[in-house]
Amino acid sequence: MSSEKQGLVLHPSPANKVFRDRVKELSGEKVELCFQCGACSSGCPMTQEMDYLPSKVIRMVQLGLDEALESKTIWVCTTCFNCEVRCPRGIDIANVMEALRQLVLRKKYDHVTLDQLSDEQLRELPQVAIISSLRKLTA
Ligand code: SF4
Ligand code: SF4
Repeated sequence: MSSEKQGLVLHPSPANKVFRDRVKELSGEKVELCFQCGACSSGCPMTQEMDYLPSKVIRMVQLGLDEALESKTIWVCTTCFNCEVRCPRGIDIANVMEALRQLVLRKKYDHVTLDQLSDEQLRELPQVAIISSLRKLTA
């Protein structure tokens, strides 16, 4: 058997393949190498706040499921790299999370519409939340 790492052979639909390949291109990660060992998820300090475990997000990308873009997980990830150092396949999961965030931000979807916030909400909201809501403009 070749010592070269073998990727999982999956056959997503053409549409799903477009999404998968876009995430691969943006992240630079070979997601097909993931064999779902779960080491990333077991070492992630943020899983209690996530809807999908990091390993599941990688699986969704492997299958080309763009539901990954609706996941809370991609926003909860703190880019701590605990997963990357554990991954036996050398996948930088944080890069994949960032690629997914970039794809959402490029849609310029408004989670918060600033001009619809009241003066009181604007006074009370942390400044970082307002700045974060504007990040899409720089994506
Ligand atoms: S980089 Fe993100 S997914 Fe990976 S362990 Fe840290 S919080 Fe979890
Ligand atoms: S640690 Fe790596 S190989 Fe294991 S499930 Fe996570 S991404 Fe896949």
